[in-house]
Amino acid sequence: GNFPLSNAEEERIFVSIRVRPLNERERARHDVSDWECISANTIKFKNNGHAEQRPLSMDTYTYDRVFGEKCNTKQVYEQGIKDVALSVVRGVNSSIFAYGQTSSGKTHTMTGITEYAVRDIYEYIEKHKEREFVVKFSAMEIYNEAVRDLLNAGATSLRILDDPEKGTVVEKLTEETLRERTQLHQLLSICAAERTTEETAMNEASSRSHQILRLTVESNPCDYVDAARSGVLFASVNFVDLAGSERASQTLSAGTRLREGSHINRSLLSLGTVIRKLSKGRNEHVPYRDSKLTRILQNSLGGNARTAIICTISPARSQSEQSRNTLLFAGCAK
Ligand code: ADP
Ligand code: MG
Repeated sequence: GNFPLSNAEEERIFVSIRVRPLNERERARHDVSDWECISANTIKFKNNGHAEQRPLSMDTYTYDRVFGEKCNTKQVYEQGIKDVALSVVRGVNSSIFAYGQTSSGKTHTMTGITEYAVRDIYEYIEKHKEREFVVKFSAMEIYNEAVRDLLNAGATSLRILDDPEKGTVVEKLTEETLRERTQLHQLLSICAAERTTEETAMNEASSRSHQILRLTVESNPCDYVDAARSGVLFASVNFVDLAGSERASQTLSAGTRLREGSHINRSLLSLGTVIRKLSKGRNEHVPYRDSKLTRILQNSLGGNARTAIICTISPARSQSEQSRNTLLFAGCAK
């Protein structure tokens, strides 16, 4: 539906939920859809009496936006994400995350959102001839706490450095300067292919890895009139397709503290902690340095940066525990 957005500009972290349709596999085993979006921002567990009984109050969840099975990616993008992504042209850093269990629709959602955002950023640039824009693109993957350059297959364990001017930077990361929008489409398909290769080569790799696609936009005023209004603007927007949340939810829901171990994804857990601290909005110490993901995104999380999280869930009854875990994570981000 088309609901008006409530002052999204002021929201520290914008949290939305997206329920994908039942897939073939779920349908084939007669799984049923258990979640219903009952308003623009409330989702309800239908609880038809088959699943475990819970008090009704525990089974409605409220966020900034919820999107049901019939909603498309364009709606998800337009209602809340667009503003966050476009802040890059005004010199404001941002991060947009897809969080959810494997096969809940993270990549599907994030791919579409990235395309819409790129279109809008270029549309803005074309309309604003009073400034000169330089757009750069980089892409990385974090797998087992190693950072890989998706535009340079040879670079598999990049270091993260603290730069006194730029903040955290990924050393030797390829940055392509984009001369036109079409160039970006080529780069995006290179990244997608790079990640898919990994997936077939290494079992479940994409469910364990985080992908960060980053656009940086720098702009300079073309004449002194604009220069007086605003000088050089520089910011980046990060599109983050996270590892499957099943890698974190066991420990998170048990309320235990971060343990080491191959089955636990350090970056994912650490992101959860950072986001919870930020959403509380107090002057607490935020442990950015605990993982590669949070370090890389340090400049684009908290402070003046804008953050949006899209939590994706399967509607299937068989997945309802995982879906609940995702909804609880989303609740902590508010
Ligand atoms: P994830 O990245 O979370 O593992 P994917 O995005 O790969 O999940 O989605 C799993 C499958 O479901 C893919 O085939 C994808 O095309 C499909 N899918 C996901 N979300 C939707 C949606 N909202 N509508 C239609 N198909 C979807
Ligand atoms: Mg995926």
